[in-house]
Amino acid sequence: MSPIAEALARVRARITRAAMACSRDPSEIKLIAVSKTKPAEAVREAYEAGQRAFGENYAQELTHKASALADLADIEWHYIGHLQSNKAKHVAHAAHVVHTLDTPTVARELGKRAGSEGYGNAQRQLPVLVEVNVGAEPQKHGVSPGELEFLLDAVDRQPALKLRGLMTMPPPDLESARHAFMALVSLQTRHGGRNRLPDLSMGMSHDLEIAIACGATMVRVGSAIFGSR
Ligand SMILES: *Cc1c(COP(=O)(O)O)cnc(C)c1O
Repeated sequence: MSPIAEALARVRARITRAAMACSRDPSEIKLIAVSKTKPAEAVREAYEAGQRAFGENYAQELTHKASALADLADIEWHYIGHLQSNKAKHVAHAAHVVHTLDTPTVARELGKRAGSEGYGNAQRQLPVLVEVNVGAEPQKHGVSPGELEFLLDAVDRQPALKLRGLMTMPPPDLESARHAFMALVSLQTRHGGRNRLPDLSMGMSHDLEIAIACGATMVRVGSAIFGSR
């Protein structure tokens, strides 16, 4: 096995163990392999080991890798970086899921660009998650909890976008991360529950077990698969 295939197997085993520990079905948890700064060959190696969903943070890097790997028909690109209006066009073109919508302006722009890409009917909408700054910390991206409902409504008004859930980037220490994950779960409950917001994107290499215990349905794992950056 290649080092990436071995690392992937270890991460999948961690996910399974964490899910079993809290009586969840491991298949409810989607692993997104975060490939930012890593070459397209590393992504291909992970793909050959069975991985399909990949996360990228930069629009240009995403566009590059998506075209370098265009022969992998069922690869799924998740945009997990900060999203600005001027990047919405490229992201709408290359991404299959966007995790980081955080303002109504960007929701409108992404909705418009996704419309130009052919999204916008019941069969085909671009799935999006809204990034929440649960602690309303200055300097952090994400909508504050107080402005969340307004933003969710703005996403709902875009025919080309499908609201799928919430995402958060927690503080690095595990106890604060747990609080942030629990806060995201309460926001999910308060704003329509799993019907309206089925997905929770939370958990990375060092805290995925805690995120899964709290209810994550998507974990974004980079360094534990591809090595340090
Ligand atoms: C880089 C990144 C990750 C992956 O972090 P690791 O600690 O390498 O697992 C997850 N989510 C986002 C938003 C990131 O930018």
